[in-house]
Amino acid sequence: MKRIVLTGFRGTGKTEVGKVLASRLNLPLLDTDALVEQKTGRSIPSIFHEEGEERFRIEEREVIASLPADNVVISTGGGAVIDPRNMEHLRRQGILILLTADIDTIELRLANAPRPPLTNLPLREEISALLDQRRQHYYASADFCIDTRETTPRAAGEKILRVLTEGMPSLKHRTTALEFFKTGRILPLALRRLESVLVGADRDPLTRIMGVAGYPCSHSKSPALFNGLFERYGLNYHYTWFEDPEIAEILKIARCIDAKGLSVTIPFKQDVMEYIDEVDEHAARPIGAVNSVVFACGTAIGYNTDWLGVRKPLVHLKGAKAVLLGAGGVAAAAAYALVDLDMDVTILNRTPATAKILAGRFGCTSADWDAFDRIKPDLVVNATPLGMDPDTRSPLKDEQILPGMTVYDLVYTPPETPLIQAARKKGCPTIMGTEMFIHQAREQFYLNFGIDVPDAIIRELVL
Ligand code: NAP
Repeated sequence: MKRIVLTGFRGTGKTEVGKVLASRLNLPLLDTDALVEQKTGRSIPSIFHEEGEERFRIEEREVIASLPADNVVISTGGGAVIDPRNMEHLRRQGILILLTADIDTIELRLANAPRPPLTNLPLREEISALLDQRRQHYYASADFCIDTRETTPRAAGEKILRVLTEGMPSLKHRTTALEFFKTGRILPLALRRLESVLVGADRDPLTRIMGVAGYPCSHSKSPALFNGLFERYGLNYHYTWFEDPEIAEILKIARCIDAKGLSVTIPFKQDVMEYIDEVDEHAARPIGAVNSVVFACGTAIGYNTDWLGVRKPLVHLKGAKAVLLGAGGVAAAAAYALVDLDMDVTILNRTPATAKILAGRFGCTSADWDAFDRIKPDLVVNATPLGMDPDTRSPLKDEQILPGMTVYDLVYTPPETPLIQAARKKGCPTIMGTEMFIHQAREQFYLNFGIDVPDAIIRELVL
């Protein structure tokens, strides 16, 4: 038996439900808080009082790193999931069950419990603030969610046992999903794998599905990357292609098979927002596009990680004078990233009116394409499809590329575009579009699984 890991806020019932599971499965129950107390010979409130939260987190990390690999039920401390190193250990061959409850229930359960001083707030406000802060981490720690609000530990334990043997989606839902996947352009080998995951005779009920939503999306590199990461980190997940002209249909199928998450690509980055429950602050107003949806505990939350993919390779150019070529969907994420890095940004576009609108949204300047030579930027970012296979055009003439100018081409097929080649010939620093893909995918993986993958690992799988 793999290890069963219970995560969640204090007062959601991890210890009591853990006892039920351990007894029913005849496995030991290990509580990471109790292990920290044993290891240090001190109570948790006293560690917090004397040496602060940081010391406690170090002890907790060491305890989590040395937990047995199988045949155990583990109850984790409420803040353990925040640390990506803990998530990497807990997730390896683990089945993570997130226990949840509402504030009223948690407050009632914690009213008389000793508590470490995590904030200076009264109990209820502390619960509310921490739940808010940690929500995304909890969702990333959820292979399955169990609401313990109006239930006994025994009933919650039985529910988990049912999930462990049957998984979540019913046969009817899995069969419906398979019919849907058959209408996409999935290669026969990938479809057979999916068929075995959904309805195969030796199906593992705990294998969960994720995928890329787009039309078309059969060219996407995400399945190879994510499936490679699942193998690397020992995650019981399968990543596939949700290809359909209707995003509503994709969302319906994703929900009915209890998908963990979706990467969203063309043409759905804007439309998807209509069909999900919440959108994060970056994706919502400024960028206006979602490229990642995380499903957890009945909620679908949209994020934008494209802007982080643009931003990460440019942090050393804070405050630079930048020209952004293009004013479409990716340009919006790029504009947000450049402005976030305090750059002086001018947007140039084939259709100047669109550049003007985008510039207005982000407080940038816009100009005609011809203005490029006058601006003499430190950085140029290409967010047009010029140079994307089979197009061999460059958005700039060779003579427009000046020595010292950093050139970031967001086009990544081919990795070395005509623009990148021309800039390299001039000895300019260049950044290829694969960098954006790598960094945005890394953020997506973190949002879904709480694990911070080193860039080198992603690079190895993508390139
Ligand atoms: P989009 O919304 O269709 O916008 C395309 C932009 O490029 C528009 O501003 C359009 O100008 C301009 N454009 C199109 N054809 C042009 C041409 N022949 N000459 C000059 N300008 C032209 O597309 P998008 O979603 O923003 O994607 C743009 C590119 O980003 C994609 O082609 C892809 O290569 C790249 N991308 C990279 C990543 C990554 O991870 N690296 C991810 C996604 C996309 P108008 O306003 O005049 O139409």
